[in-house]
Amino acid sequence: MSGLQLVDITKRYGAVTAVDGISLEIEDGAFVCLLGPSGCGKTTLLRMIAGLEDPSAGDISLQGARINDMPAHKRNLGMVFQSLALFPHLTIGENIAYPLKIRGNSRADCEARVRDLLDMVQLPGIENRSTAQLSGGQRQRVAIARALAVSPQLFLLDEPLSALDAKLREAMQVELRQLQQRLGITTIVVTHDQREAMSMSDKIVVMSNGKVEQMAAPIEAYKKPASPFVADFLGQANLIRVQKAESGAALSGGRVPGLSLGPRNEALISIRPEDVVIKGGGEGPLPADVVFIREMGATVEVHLDAGADRIIALAPPKRDGGLKVGARVSIDLPADACVVFDSREAV
Ligand code: ATP
Repeated sequence: MSGLQLVDITKRYGAVTAVDGISLEIEDGAFVCLLGPSGCGKTTLLRMIAGLEDPSAGDISLQGARINDMPAHKRNLGMVFQSLALFPHLTIGENIAYPLKIRGNSRADCEARVRDLLDMVQLPGIENRSTAQLSGGQRQRVAIARALAVSPQLFLLDEPLSALDAKLREAMQVELRQLQQRLGITTIVVTHDQREAMSMSDKIVVMSNGKVEQMAAPIEAYKKPASPFVADFLGQANLIRVQKAESGAALSGGRVPGLSLGPRNEALISIRPEDVVIKGGGEGPLPADVVFIREMGATVEVHLDAGADRIIALAPPKRDGGLKVGARVSIDLPADACVVFDSREAV
């Protein structure tokens, strides 16, 4: 049985529909990211799961039991928000013990549990320090320890790492994932950062305009996006209009041999830059001009004009063949790396 189940959840604020009929299931022990651009309804969805907002319609169930009317404090959740809301007048230990204390745990039990929790987030022995003495990453870990103090059934985090600099953020992503795997706790994280979502989750829920565009394992959503929006939101994508042609598809400047558009006469295709193959010489089904080159360290990004289409390719430096701007080349869009959408689908 699925741990958390949402059925047709909707939230309206006056004329604004923040969440629009979302249904999904999250298995026990899964790490799931709600991912999407600003305003797509991620936070509203998380707050309904937490019991901090009432759905306008739909049902939320935990272990098969409907919890719509269960108040937040009875839902057995741990929550971490972007603004960590540590109490500045309490020590670190008192902050972490706070949820235990209000549940009536003894002082000795609280102290022992705080010690365990600080060990767990790799900050042993700092219970008597003030929160002002902590770095950003340490504050994050203390907030996580406090949220996990009551051994919640569900761990909910809203943009927990967005205040941290890039390096620390990456390190905390790994820590958070390792901690979650060790505890096996069902975890839902809101983020607008696709790299963060892809690197941490078992499943990502890509949202747009209050709806789920796709729920899938990160690599599946990356390789087989369900819509042009998902293709474009999860990393770079070349989105190109094509027409049905004899034994393949036609672009403005050439062909993709062997690409089937199914029953469609025209379509939108998506191909990742790393799947675009550049060949020397302008002979081939899709000739192109190199118009821009960017050295990215581990890769080289090459912008190509093929007819009216701009196509971006990523190649390892050694395999770019010493390309120069102005070169005439041929590119190959392998049919099995192309995802085909209806041409009406907007990005
Ligand atoms: P962000 O990443 O910017 O936090 P989000 O994806 O979390 O965005 P939400 O905060 O869930 O998006 O907001 C979804 C929509 O609902 C937005 O249009 C927002 O303006 C609206 N909204 C959210 N909360 C309220 C509220 N309390 N009253 C009115 N409108 C709201």
